[in-house]
This record gives sequence, C-alpha cells and structure tokens, in this order.
Amino acid sequence: MSAPMPPSGTMTEAGENRALDRDELVFVDEADAPVPVKSAAAWRILVVDDDADVHSTTTFALKNVEMQGRPLEFLHAYSAREARGLLEREPDIAVILLDVVMERPDAGLQLVRQIREELGMIEVRIILRTGQPGYAPEIEAIRGYDINDYRTKSELTRTKLYTAVAAAVRSYQQLRALDASRAGLEQIVEAGASLMALHGVRDVAQGVLRQAAILLGQAPAGVLCVRESGQGRPDVLHVVAAAGEHAQLEGRELSPQRHPALADAVGRTLGTRGGLHAEGWLSLHFPGKAGRDFAACIPFERKVGDIERRLLDVFASVVAVGLDNVELVTHLNLAAFRDQLTGLPNRTRLVELVDALLASPQRGSATLALVDLDHFAETNDALGHHFGDLLLVAVGKRLESRLKSGSDAQLEVARIGGDIFCVLGDAGAVQPAAIQDLFRVPFHIDGQDVQVSATLGLVRLVEHEGSGTDALKDADIALKRAKSQQRAGHFYFSRSMGVEIRERVRMMHALRSGFQRGELFLAYQPQVDLATNRPFGAEALLRWRTEDGRLVGPDRFIPIAEYSGLIVDIGEWVLRQALAELVRLRAAGHRAFTMSVNVSQVQFRHPQFLDMLRRALDDSRAPPEFVELEITESMAMEEPALLVEKLAQIKRTGVSIAIDDFGTGFSSLSHLQRLQVDRLKIDRTFVTEITGSARGSSIAEMVIQLGSNLGLSVIAEGVEDERQAHILRSLGCPLAQGFLFARPLTPEALLAWLGDQALTQAA
Ligand code: C2E
Ligand code: CA
Ligand code: CA
Repeated sequence: MSAPMPPSGTMTEAGENRALDRDELVFVDEADAPVPVKSAAAWRILVVDDDADVHSTTTFALKNVEMQGRPLEFLHAYSAREARGLLEREPDIAVILLDVVMERPDAGLQLVRQIREELGMIEVRIILRTGQPGYAPEIEAIRGYDINDYRTKSELTRTKLYTAVAAAVRSYQQLRALDASRAGLEQIVEAGASLMALHGVRDVAQGVLRQAAILLGQAPAGVLCVRESGQGRPDVLHVVAAAGEHAQLEGRELSPQRHPALADAVGRTLGTRGGLHAEGWLSLHFPGKAGRDFAACIPFERKVGDIERRLLDVFASVVAVGLDNVELVTHLNLAAFRDQLTGLPNRTRLVELVDALLASPQRGSATLALVDLDHFAETNDALGHHFGDLLLVAVGKRLESRLKSGSDAQLEVARIGGDIFCVLGDAGAVQPAAIQDLFRVPFHIDGQDVQVSATLGLVRLVEHEGSGTDALKDADIALKRAKSQQRAGHFYFSRSMGVEIRERVRMMHALRSGFQRGELFLAYQPQVDLATNRPFGAEALLRWRTEDGRLVGPDRFIPIAEYSGLIVDIGEWVLRQALAELVRLRAAGHRAFTMSVNVSQVQFRHPQFLDMLRRALDDSRAPPEFVELEITESMAMEEPALLVEKLAQIKRTGVSIAIDDFGTGFSSLSHLQRLQVDRLKIDRTFVTEITGSARGSSIAEMVIQLGSNLGLSVIAEGVEDERQAHILRSLGCPLAQGFLFARPLTPEALLAWLGDQALTQAA
C-alpha cells in the first residue's frame, strides 16, 4: 500500500492558515503556537428539527458563545425538505444539528444521505439528535455517512451541547484547513465510515490500527489500549487490539515489565491526553466521553510531516467519535425498550404496545391515558434530583400495582418521558377519576410525605385513526388542553381538536418557510379622492403564493402569523417593502403619493416597534409625511394611557395614523380625541349597507360627520359600484378605496394604472 498523502511541498499554503485547537492531540515536537483564523466570520450552525422548542432551547443554550474566537450564527429549518433547500442556497455551514425523526421516521437519515451523496458536502459536520433512546436509527442506517456525533436530546444538557458543537466546529475547521489534501481527507472520511460499520469495541479498535496504517502508508502494527481500574491494585493498561509484531498482546494486559517502552509510551499518551512522536514511535490519543480515553501506539520510523500531523489530528477526532459510538450504540440497544429509572416500558415499547392494541379486537374498548405529574419540576428543584427520581419510581410502582390489581384485563403502565407516565388498557380500568384517586394518598419518600397531583390527557382508541405514535400525539394534545384549563384535571381527545391544531401548526411551518423562501409579496390598492377620482395613495396588502402556486388570503394566515409571533418579522418586512415601493413611485414622478401600511396589534405591542419604525424610515429614506399606519379600532380600545403615549411617539416620527375598520368596535368619542389619529377608515360592511335599506346609511353617515367634527380625514373602503360612490359623495365623504376604482395591484400594474389615470384626468 502506498501513502495516500500528496507530497508535502504542495502544502505550504495550508500551513499558513492553520488554526488547530490542540487540546486533543499535542505532539511533543510541536513548537509553534496555534494561529487564530483571520476572519471573525461566524460559524454557521444549522438546526433542523420539527419541534420549534428545540430551536429556541438550542439557540438559547449557545447564545453569545464563541468558538475559536468566532461567534455562532444559527440557521433554522423545520423539516428535512426545508433543510435541503437551505443547504443548496447557504454556503459554508459548519455544523448541522439534525433531528432523526421528522416528516418521516427516517427523514433525518435520508437528509444525511442527500447531504453526503447528492449534494456532495463532505465537510459539514453532522450531529444527529433523537428524542428518545429507542428512536436510535439502525446502526446499519448511519453507516457510511460520516456522522460526527449521535446524541439523545435528553442527553444534551447545555454543557454537553456546547462540547459536542465545539468538537464538531473544530473538526470542521480542521477539515477546511486541510482542504488542500483531499486525498488524505477522503481517506479519513472513509476510515470514519468503515469504523462506523463495525460492531464492538475490539472490531473498531482493530479497524483503527488498520486505517492508521493506511494513512501512514505502512502495514498495520502497534497496539490500541484503554486504562482500566485495577480494582484496588494500580490501574492496568488493557490492549483492546494489536497488530504486527505485537499481535499476540491483543486482549491482554500490557505489562510494564515485559514491554517497558510500549507501556511507557501508552501511559504518557493517556497521562498527557495528547499524541506523541518519539524515536521509532507514534502515538495517538482518543478522548472518550465517559473519561474512557484510548491510546494507540504505532511503530513509525519516519519524521512526521506537517500535513501528516494534521491529518492525524482529524483522524484522532473521527476515531474518538467512532469508539464512543460503539459504546453508545451498545448501550442504546439495551436501553431501547425499558425506562432505566423505573424499569417500566419506555416510549418506544409503549408505541409498539399501542400499535398491537390498535390492530387487535380489544381496540374497541381501550383507552390510553397520559399522566403528567403537576409541578414536578419544582419538586425536583426544591428537593433535589435524587428525591425526584425516588418519587418517579414510587409513582410508577403505585400506578402499576393499584391499577393492575383492580382489573383482570390487560393493562400496561409505561414511563414515556420526564414526569409523564402512560396507562394503556380497558376503558373500564383507565378512568380519570380512578387514576386521580391514586394520588390522594401522599407518597412516602426518604422519610417524608409528599403530596402530588396529576393531569391527564386521554384518547379512546376506538375513535383513533392512525398509528400508535399518532395516538400518543393526540393524547399529548388533550393533555396540553387539560393543563391550559387549570381546573379541568383531565381531557379526552376529540377529532376536531387534533385537526385544528395540526392544521394550524402545519400552516405555521409553511408560512415560516414560505416567508424565508420569498413567497410573500405585496399588492397595492389605490385610494382616490372621491370628488375628482384622482388617486392620492395606496394601501399595501400582503399576499402569499405558496410553493404549489395557491394564493392564501391574509385573513387566513395573518392570525397564524400573529399567534406564532412571526408577524413581527413579517410586519417589518412589509413596512420596508412598502417604503421602498413608495420611494420608487416618487422617483417615477408620483411625489404627492401616500403609502398606507397595516400594523397588527401584536406588532404594535412589540417593545421594539418604535425603533423598528424609525430604522425602516431612515434606511429607506421615505418621507414620513407620506406614510400612514393603519391600526384597527379594537386596538385603539386597549390600555388607553399607554396607547396615547405610544401613538404620540409614533406621530413624532412624522407618519400619520388611520383607524382601520372603523365602526366595528366601540370607540368612545372622548377617547378618539385623545388619540391624535389622522384618519378613519369606514369599514366595508357599512359601505355595502348604504345602498340597501334607507336606515343603512346611518353608520357611514355618522362616521363621516364624526370625522368632520373632529377634523379627521375619512376614507370609505370596499367601494364596489357607482351607486355607493354617489351616495358617499353626497354624504360628504372625501376619500375612497375599492374594486370600483382598482383592485390590489402589482407594483408594475400600479404604475401603469397611475399612468392611465393621469391621462384620463388630463383629457
Ligand atoms: P383590511 O385592512 O380591511 O384591507 C382591506 C381588504 O378589503 C383587503 O382584503 C382588500 O383586498 C379588500 N377590498 C378592497 N376593496 C374591496 C372591494 O371593493 N370589495 C371587497 N369585497 N373587498 C375589497 P385582503 O387583502 O384580503 O386583506 C384582508 C385583511 O388582511 C386586511 O383587511 C388586513 O386586516 C389584513 N392584512 C392585509 N395585509 C396586511 C399586512 O401587511 N399586515 C397586517 N397586519 N394585516 C394585513
Ligand atoms: Ca387596512
Ligand atoms: Ca379595513
């Protein structure tokens, strides 16, 4: 076998910008200190998860953190599909924190395959996260895709998340620095992949010696050791794998008497936690997660070149992960079906049980109940985790023994997460009252009596369509509902509840990614002077054309944008977009033209709203006196004192304010006077009415009079025909907007329309 590395003469450039963190592998002959990377650009971290909470906890946990002197920047995707689009567009992503189970149970792994094979991105580091140990993907499935790390979400505390991301960033940085030596790099990636394919620590260890040999361009040789506690005697070095002249040492203790040089080199490598290069030897250090570090010692005669050393650095970190993963996977397989703490079936097992029940004749009479302990987190904090653990064990025992003894039907109790238990069985036995009764008697723990209560979310399986996983989701929806209605104690899932929530969540995800993808745009509806029909302004109206070409109306998606908080970003975008359009219109000669922008209540209440408005005005250089914000009447009703102050501040920026949908709320007159608004918009429904009954005109008429008494401008919206326009004119309404004059238009159509109007007016 020949050395895979290119001649070192081509490596000078890579040698300059090295910025290796050497806490993992330090060579004794290394004299020069690491040089920091010149640019302080952020490391780009992509979080892919369908659970919005995971995004916020991740960014929160890594907030203001620096790695290698550079900050982190987060990108977010909520599905594998979205992530793929993002990866195609966004350059230089360092690390992907990837959820395994998303749209489909294998969505995460499919994405990994696409990243490595279709997109050919081999440098980006991938940390797989899975919600439950039981959701461990088949080890076969992650073979071959160079996965950097693999963690369960509960395992990722803040510190561990930091450590995992920092290691990945480092490894990415090294890979980038090594860009020039593709061949060596590909070798390492291959090595990592082939190590992943091996079962058992010994197999992996043998693989490491083989791959190291390929990397060094020589035949397999040397030993790979781990330090083991000597059980009272001094620690011993255990040879996990050996090759070449030392092959016979495999599986034995490394004796310092018989192999002094080898034992000394291994001991020093583990002691200094760094690789060594001494006369005739090369050693590598592989830090392990649970303090179980490994060290390899390989006979090596040549001097180690600069690039070779760096390849070995990367190799060592790839191997460390490989070794850790074998241990983790072994552990995961054991943990797959049982909850460690209580010994009860875990979530994975429960899903299997529900699936089986759904397929059986018993489904007709079965109920699934989630049992969530109230205020468990507080108990845990106040009395300590050990106490919390004991309490969970006690709750599990009580649920199981009492419920099972009370019925002869098949019944299962599982613990599916933190403080959430699940009871599955015949509806007769799984009764909310019966379960809650079990919590009346306090639990006796550590000499103390603790009283706990529980909230329940239930699903009747007979009404359930879909899988066991879906049934759990439904129960969770019911549980959330029960918790939000504090006195309820329990709630049964109903179809409408699920459909409504799922639809809303679906739409929220779609909107978020649609917004990022640029699916939103504005239409501009002209506003005219009723006496002359001359246009004087336009209202910006938000539009959403989804990926499949459907138009979704703002009445449908704006409430969702408000509910999810997205409206804050979207609203800013709308404002900036509309201001830019105003500037363009002015440049095209429409200099006395006003732009009206809708502002939602959520946006308006945002503490940064005023700053945002000021910045948008500054950035766009749009003249504030030609900008109008439309707020709704219901908003004008709230918190009068605050509102008066906020409106006054807004007015000081120079923009004017209109009250939208006027007449639908119940603003008091005195209130209106204090608010310093400039214009009232008569709601469409009152305009529609004026051609109907004789009495119908009264509200529109009243608003028009009110406006003139208070010195406010008035505009009628939704004017659809000449008769309405005629009546409005006769009532003294000065301004109007509606399909009669123009529909909401694209910017180009608006310009054309304005041009036509000017011609008509001139004629
Ligand atoms: P709105 O502010 O009352 O907007 C007027 C609505 O009436 C628009 O519907 C417009 O297309 C429609 N309209 C205009 N003239 C006529 C007419 O002659 N006849 C009829 N039948 N309808 C007419 P659209 O665009 O569907 O907007 C619905 C609502 O969505 C808006 O009501 C507003 O509350 C909200 N919205 C739209 N864009 C935005 C935005 O950028 N931000 C916020 N926060 N809300 C927005
Ligand atoms: Ca409006
Ligand atoms: Ca309106």
